[in-house]
Order: sequence, then C-alpha cells, then structure tokens
Amino acid sequence: MNDELIALVRAPNPSAMTLSGTNSYLIDCGEGHALVIDPGPAIESHVAALLDAAAERSLRIAAIALTHGHPDHTPAAVPLARKTGALVYAHPDSSIPHDRDLELEGELRIGTRTFRVIDAPGHTFDHVVFYEPQAQTLFTGDTILGEGTVVIAPPGGAMRPYQRTLERLAREFTQARTIRGGHGPLVQDAQTKIAEYIAHRKEREAQLIATLADAPRTIPELVARMYGDTRKTLWPAAARQLLAYLDALREEGRIEATPLDRALTPEESALLNPAWASLVDPELAKVIEAELGASYRIERIEAYRLVQ
Ligand SMILES: [Zn+2]
Repeated sequence: MNDELIALVRAPNPSAMTLSGTNSYLIDCGEGHALVIDPGPAIESHVAALLDAAAERSLRIAAIALTHGHPDHTPAAVPLARKTGALVYAHPDSSIPHDRDLELEGELRIGTRTFRVIDAPGHTFDHVVFYEPQAQTLFTGDTILGEGTVVIAPPGGAMRPYQRTLERLAREFTQARTIRGGHGPLVQDAQTKIAEYIAHRKEREAQLIATLADAPRTIPELVARMYGDTRKTLWPAAARQLLAYLDALREEGRIEATPLDRALTPEESALLNPAWASLVDPELAKVIEAELGASYRIERIEAYRLVQ
C-alpha cells in the first residue's frame, strides 16, 4: 500500500489541546471500500470533506474505526455512518455507541486491507492503535502526536500503562516507518519519535523526584517549580499531568501524600479545578474536560514526599 492511498482530512477545530485540528484518515482499502480512522468532531464541513475525499477516489466509506472516545475524535461517526451505512468499530469497553467491537490484538479487515489492532491503554483506558503493514504506518490517535507531547490525566489516563504501551510499540513494531497521529503532522521517522516519547516521560519523572528531594511539596508548588517556563494558561494541564506521575509513584510506594489541614486557596483551586466553561467556548470545554479528566475534582490539598 503506498502512501497516496491514505488521505489526511484535518478537522477545523484548532486549539491548544487539538493543535491544528483533529486528524481524520480516509484509507483506500481496495474493492471500492474506504476506512475512516477517527472521524473527528461533528462539524458539518468536516463531514462533507470526508465524503468528498471518498467520492473523489470513487470509494464508499464502509467502516469507521475509533482510536478512543474523546469528543474531538468521535462525534462525526454518527452523521457519517448515517450518510454512508458504514459500520462503526471501537474498543470493546468504549462508551461510544458502536456497531462492532474491535478485536484487541487481532485484526480489522476492510476490503483487501488488514490492520493490526493494538490494545494501547494510557491516554485513555480504551485506546487502540492501528498498524497497517503494507504502508508500515501506525495510526496512533492520542498515544503519539505529530508534534508536542500527549496529556496523560487521571482518571481516564494512567502513566504506567501509557509507558508500557510506548515501550511495546518500540519493541514490537520495529518495522514501522511512519506515524499518523490524531493531531499534528505526519511523523517520518517512527522509531525516533517513539524513543523520544519514552525518554521525555522518564526525564519528567526524574525531574519530579529531584524536585521532591529537599522538601515535601503540593501540586501547585511542583507546577511552579517544574513548569516555570511554560505559559500559565497551560499550568492546569501540567497539574493534571503531574497527578498522573504522582499516582503512579504513590501506587509503587515511592512517595507518600499527607493531606494538609486546610482548604484549597482560591489560587490553588483555580489551578487544580479550573472552570473551563467560563474560559473557552463550550465545544472546546468538552474536549478539555475529557482530555484533562476535569470531571475528577481535586478537593484536598496534599503534600507529597519521597519515601526514603
Ligand atoms: Zn484524546
């Protein structure tokens, strides 16, 4: 399968969370059939663009597959399936209504194409990655993006499963040449990108442990020390990200958390539980709340310390 058989149709939903917009992929699977991976948001012009991309290639969209259930990746499945009769495939545990469960660690066959279905928890527990062996490409959803890093935020996201997923991709998919992520540009060197992602997580964790070495600290204190050169508007995302590392280290008995005997200050509350809906438009607020696990409110202020 050469690369011309894979069309990128980018949705018009750019933001800090979605970069230049959600990437939807339309893949010519032979026999006049197309597969859409991640149909994206239900924006009318985006659904029309996907239908046009199929029509230009004389293809019928026969199947829609979801990498995960976040609201910037899935809602267009409904109008697209209604217009084409395509079957919607998703992770067996996905809460998104779908016609067929993907067979984890099995295959998805559409037309003459076969995709490996890789169980890839981490960004969400119900995330899958697809591998197409002829194009030697990985469709990674929000597990690996074309640029920047991914937010891993509890309760949907978890750090150790995410790191295991990355390590597994590095170990088992050495033949992968390219990565087509859920956001950002095409990654031309899959192996280097996966290695960078693995290294980035280890570096951040080492930095976190070093920041806790001299004194116990709260999440807001950690954010101020570790993300001093990051825009403050991104600090709430950084706080959620740190929570994922802290949860992992706590489960492993490497750190302890002591609740402080006081309420959150307004500044701490604004950082830990920001009112997204008042900051951005409601559609984007939905995406941010899903990506950052914002329904999970942090009600107690705790000081984290290393277990010696
Ligand atoms: Zn996502």
